[in-house]
Amino acid sequence: MPSESMQNVVILGATGSIGASTLSVMSAQTQRYRVYGLVANTNVDKMLALCLAHKPVIAHMVNEQAAMTLKAALPPHIGVTVTTGENALIDLVTSNQIHTVMAAIVGAAGLLSTFAAVKAGKRVLLANKEALVMSGALFMDACRQSGATLLPVDSEHNAIFQCLPESVQTNLGHCSLDAAGVSSILLTGSGGPFLTAPLESLASVTPAQACKHPNWSMGPKISVDSATMMNKGLEFIEARWLFNTNAAQLKVVVHPQSVIHSMVQYRDGSVLAQMGNPDMRTPIAHCLSYPQRITSGVEALDFFKLGDLSFCEADIARFPCLHLAMQACEHGQEATTVLNAANEVAVDAFLAGQIGFTQIAAINESCLAQVSQSSLKSIDDILQLDSLTRQHAWQAIKRIN
Ligand code: NAD
Ligand code: MG
Repeated sequence: MPSESMQNVVILGATGSIGASTLSVMSAQTQRYRVYGLVANTNVDKMLALCLAHKPVIAHMVNEQAAMTLKAALPPHIGVTVTTGENALIDLVTSNQIHTVMAAIVGAAGLLSTFAAVKAGKRVLLANKEALVMSGALFMDACRQSGATLLPVDSEHNAIFQCLPESVQTNLGHCSLDAAGVSSILLTGSGGPFLTAPLESLASVTPAQACKHPNWSMGPKISVDSATMMNKGLEFIEARWLFNTNAAQLKVVVHPQSVIHSMVQYRDGSVLAQMGNPDMRTPIAHCLSYPQRITSGVEALDFFKLGDLSFCEADIARFPCLHLAMQACEHGQEATTVLNAANEVAVDAFLAGQIGFTQIAAINESCLAQVSQSSLKSIDDILQLDSLTRQHAWQAIKRIN
């Protein structure tokens, strides 16, 4: 294991939006963080540029052809080893050279590598919320068993984490909010680009409109999830596992300005909020340096320039996906695994122009209707249910067309 003063970091999802923000924070702190490994799926041009700029020890492409193209394009003197294949990926995240893993692959595709990092007891910076939504208790139990340090990158969960005492921060998944004096967690969400759009216009919105988030710049999948508020639903489930909440302890509050990133309400009437400009470099810097603080490159919040901050309840008729996710959370692990898989397929189909925006919720609902009672005991069980649900979802899409 490398020394504590220099963290060797692997970035899963290096070519994405979170990958870029992570590299931006790390680049300003090269005396503390070393880019050891970069992992991406298919984007050779972007990976090539990242290799030239950051000179990782290993660049891993999940797509075999992409790995070959990258290898051919890299100048040999640069000293980057290109790998591909599942075994090489697991070797990379579990290597004893590695201290920290940024888990920022989008969707279920990130589960295996993120889970491997957790089982290997790494410091895991979790952006890939879908991995936790799918595997819930298994994920949190694996953290406890291996002694992995889990730090939430998702801005809301990072905000909640910052507003909670150390006794909770160091015992995620198994903490008692009640013992810490917490009465509820207030998960804030902007409501996305369609918060005030006429309801009847939603059926015909385009992928470009759905991806145009008013406050955050993000990858396409999470942008669509923000427009349906499925993102808040997935975050509701994510918070349930991270902070070991019961249904009464978790509430969603719509806050269109995204200045408050979430809040914790205490028994004595105190409410602690974490605020800042909406820029993922803040939670990423917090996770990289916790419990210390480093600069992130994000401008300080200027209270004299802030307009009004407003709050309201989420409208279930406008955001049925949020409602489905909260119900699935209540229902249990099987329902949340099914919902995640169905939603990934539905969002892909929407982005590809195969279904309309409001049909995303319909596909999710039809897959959830198939949930039966069976227990998920392993990651293999979860992946099997994920793949079965994808088949159901594609059938539902075919029926629509
Ligand atoms: P993105 O689409 O910009 O990037 C996705 C990354 O995942 C890319 O590097 C891509 O190569 C990689 N990837 C995709 N499929 C893969 C596969 N099959 N195998 C390996 N790698 C694969 O997405 P993003 O916006 O950076 O989001 C990444 C994750 O972080 C998501 O789970 C998202 O919910 C979460 N997150 C993102 C933000 C944000 O502001 N972007 C905020 C909170 C949480
Ligand atoms: Mg978030």
